[in-house]
Amino acid sequence: MDFEFPEDEKFFRKLLCKDKNVFNSYLCLFDFREPKIKRSEFCRIRNKVLKDLIDKYGQRCMLQYPNRCINSKFVVDHLIPLSSNKLNKILRGILAEKGKKIKTQSFGSNHINNLIIACSECNSFKKHKFLNRKDIVNILELKVIANNADDISDTFGKLKRNISGQQFKDKARDGW
Ligand SMILES: [Zn+2]
Repeated sequence: MDFEFPEDEKFFRKLLCKDKNVFNSYLCLFDFREPKIKRSEFCRIRNKVLKDLIDKYGQRCMLQYPNRCINSKFVVDHLIPLSSNKLNKILRGILAEKGKKIKTQSFGSNHINNLIIACSECNSFKKHKFLNRKDIVNILELKVIANNADDISDTFGKLKRNISGQQFKDKARDGW
């Protein structure tokens, strides 16, 4: 799987990995095909995915933007957005031509690991943005723990036991 530019891969390694060696396990989050193909595939699976995610993680918005989150009216959101022009802006400094938007690149996949539960408010606030490193790593950790848990209905219980009291308090305060 090839990123369009080497600096893009470097950006995502830094965003996703605590240990740079594990980046390969996150390649499923990416799909560089045309965004409109990915969008039409997503439309076909979104209802089932929403049900599956809620069965697994409960009715809980995973974004939890402070002062915005309503933790209801749930939808499926992409952790890595399907497309974004952010890297063209921040890594390559491309400026918009008059009357045109900066070209977007295709990034996120419809893989279950890239799909999260979001409330309608957080979803419309996030749009095509990337989360910050701390939030994205927290969500990925939660997903990995849930994937490895025997009893997925007890995901949060397992998470509680697998991390220290202080970490749990931090997560409870800052959101999961
Ligand atoms: Zn929310």
